[in-house]
Amino acid sequence: MTSEPRILTFGCRLNAFESEVMRNHARAAGLEDVVIVNTCAVTAEAERQARQAIRRARREHPNAPIIVTGCAAQIDPDRYAAMPEVSRVLGNEEKLRAESFLPGANAAVAVDDIMTVRETAPHLVEGFEGRARAFVQIQQGCDHRCTFCIIPYGRGNNRSAPIGTIVDQTRRLVEAGYKEVVLTGVDITGYGADLPGRPRLGQMARRLLAQVPELPRLRLTSVDCVEVADDEDLMDLIAGEERLMPHLHLSLQAGDDMILKRMKRRHGRDDAIEFCRRARELRPGIAFGADLIAGFPTETDEMFRRSLDLIEECDLAWLHVFPYSVREGTPAARMPQTPSAIRKERAAQLRAAGERAAQRFLDKQTGSEARVLVERDNRGYSEHFAPVRLSEPAPEGALVNARIERREGMTLIGETVRRAA
Ligand code: SF4
Repeated sequence: MTSEPRILTFGCRLNAFESEVMRNHARAAGLEDVVIVNTCAVTAEAERQARQAIRRARREHPNAPIIVTGCAAQIDPDRYAAMPEVSRVLGNEEKLRAESFLPGANAAVAVDDIMTVRETAPHLVEGFEGRARAFVQIQQGCDHRCTFCIIPYGRGNNRSAPIGTIVDQTRRLVEAGYKEVVLTGVDITGYGADLPGRPRLGQMARRLLAQVPELPRLRLTSVDCVEVADDEDLMDLIAGEERLMPHLHLSLQAGDDMILKRMKRRHGRDDAIEFCRRARELRPGIAFGADLIAGFPTETDEMFRRSLDLIEECDLAWLHVFPYSVREGTPAARMPQTPSAIRKERAAQLRAAGERAAQRFLDKQTGSEARVLVERDNRGYSEHFAPVRLSEPAPEGALVNARIERREGMTLIGETVRRAA
């Protein structure tokens, strides 16, 4: 018997945000003895892990209702409904409705066509279980159709939250004591395209920071470099707003123009390099993270070489590497596939290069002063999202100044300078 709704969250920060919304709905409905599995469909591996977790949950909670939701359930509800362990399947929109958790709501499968959803309903959460930073959903879905990506089929088209809702949510989290808010969504650079006046990401962020002056730190999740390059408000904030963290995660995916074309990405190799050069000019020392896919269909050794070289040409610090994963229903799944052993080998090469790049970035921090958001015990993250171990423990969620003494492995060692609020 579990006393609290038990929520297993897979995938992205947007799912983490939505799990908090479901936790509130389940609690409000008095649903105690329930397991909710919030799945991800971005790779075949993510789905395998979710199904494994469902089977484990059934073993550990033989009588508890098991509700499966998230992108994998949205895209293929019948597959999850067919699992004997599963009690109900909810779609990505249905999971956010309070009525889906009320005692009378017992339809085995409640999954509507996500492409018909036009709005992002405002959901305000109080906090995030066991997390020092809070995520705020600003946008949902995606209007792009990158050839390898299944996400739009799980999340629908681009829909933005009104700025007022984002301000309210952020203010509520700051009042709850959060020092850092991460703006999240599926394609946050698409923010505002569906709203009156088409406010862009930069304009929204500028208004948010102006309306919540007590928010110490604002961080962005993945951005599309070619779509933010002409967002002058955002480039101005990067240049001059200390509260916007000097860390951008770029959705680059590959370093070869032909592969980027076959992926239906909106940027070329030179756009990525130029964006990093310009952002670094505006904000010296800024850290870039990036997503890179290894072994996309038709990728030759030479093309792959260009992805490897991009790490240094953009001077990336944090790499998220994905061996290409076939997603049925996507155009790339119908292209001539790169053998899986080659995908794995290239991913290993990218990860190794990524580790060297991270070490280069971390070494450059030695002797500098960082402001660290403490997560647990004496560990946390700097403004650049570098992991830091402090010389003395500090309360979770505290902001602490530290002089960076050295790097140990992939962690910076910081001497606590002054305990800030
Ligand atoms: S921008 Fe491309 S990769 Fe990102 S969610 Fe949209 S379709 Fe997927």
